[in-house]
Amino acid sequence: MINRREFIKKAGMGAATIPLMGLARCGTANKEQNNRIVGGRVIDSHIHLTPGKVKKVLQIMDDNSIRYAVIIASIMGTDFGDKAFYEIMDAIKPYKNRLGLHYTFDWKLAETDPEFFNKAPDMLERAVKAGAIGLKNLKQLGLVARDIEGKLIAIDDPRLFPIWERAEKLGIPVAFHTGDPVAFFEPWDPKNERWEELKLHPEWSFSDHSKYPPLKILFEQANNLYKKFTKVQFVSVHVAGYSENLKEVSKWMDEIPNLSIDTAARIGELGKHPAKEGNDFFNKYQDRIMFGTDMAYWENCDVQGAGPCKDFTNEETRNFYNVHWRYFQTSDIQFDHPTPIQGNWKIDGIGLKEQALKKIYWDNAYRFYKLDRFGVA
Ligand SMILES: [Zn+2]
Repeated sequence: MINRREFIKKAGMGAATIPLMGLARCGTANKEQNNRIVGGRVIDSHIHLTPGKVKKVLQIMDDNSIRYAVIIASIMGTDFGDKAFYEIMDAIKPYKNRLGLHYTFDWKLAETDPEFFNKAPDMLERAVKAGAIGLKNLKQLGLVARDIEGKLIAIDDPRLFPIWERAEKLGIPVAFHTGDPVAFFEPWDPKNERWEELKLHPEWSFSDHSKYPPLKILFEQANNLYKKFTKVQFVSVHVAGYSENLKEVSKWMDEIPNLSIDTAARIGELGKHPAKEGNDFFNKYQDRIMFGTDMAYWENCDVQGAGPCKDFTNEETRNFYNVHWRYFQTSDIQFDHPTPIQGNWKIDGIGLKEQALKKIYWDNAYRFYKLDRFGVA
């Protein structure tokens, strides 16, 4: 475990300056950043990117020791699916050793195209041949995606099985975003713990149970699917959608050996648990957890995990990443989490050891996405 003093020593600065670190020259900043990250290099396994932001992202990655980033979904503004996938793919093609992209279905097609279910596996195969490193399913599945008769499509709907079979044949991992924070399924009012966030995104409230299935049903459907397709490697993003309940996620991880998770936009929730519980969880599943942030680089503005879409300074971005290192690497208590809009509380660091940190920052994503084939280093 790295204690606070060692962390500060490695970072080469006083405690008070950690969250404020900002250096004028990029090269120096990078060296400082390297010093503070155990292992000195990281894969961010969950970002979003539109084609116009490729150069900017590479610069931010360099500045924060992120050697490789996984663009978790093919989303471009309001476009999902093929259009977004092929445009983003084109833009990142020269940077195969820095950026990878998931293919994403536009579930609206299930509602409008009677042939969608038959076409979908070939659509996936075409995308993989064009360079997709995985398939990502957006949270719409199970929650709002409907078939041509207007019925909700369950995550474990047999009409989708040929897609997962094709993923298995192609040897690609499949990512799911299932559910959302528990508070989004609770009444939309000022008493809601995530009221600030829901005010900004009222469309994220799924509290109307006449329209949306309860969270529990979504988790059941997803777990059914993972258990049925045992040869597919699944990653359930955002701590399997249930960072509020690590005991339950542990149960799923124990029952489903082909299930991994990422940490994207959930440090706030994770850091709320007693540090010992977080430390035990990350240690136990250190081979199946991937570091991710949910940094989103949209066309006109960026989002850091959650919150406002705006232009962030390099210093703000460094601070955002630094809070992540602080959570994983130190035993500091009661500091601000990286996504303040998610709620007004403080978090405690979990002080992981070097072996677990290296796996979570690097080894697991490297193995999961077979990054040796792109010369990622
Ligand atoms: Zn995301």
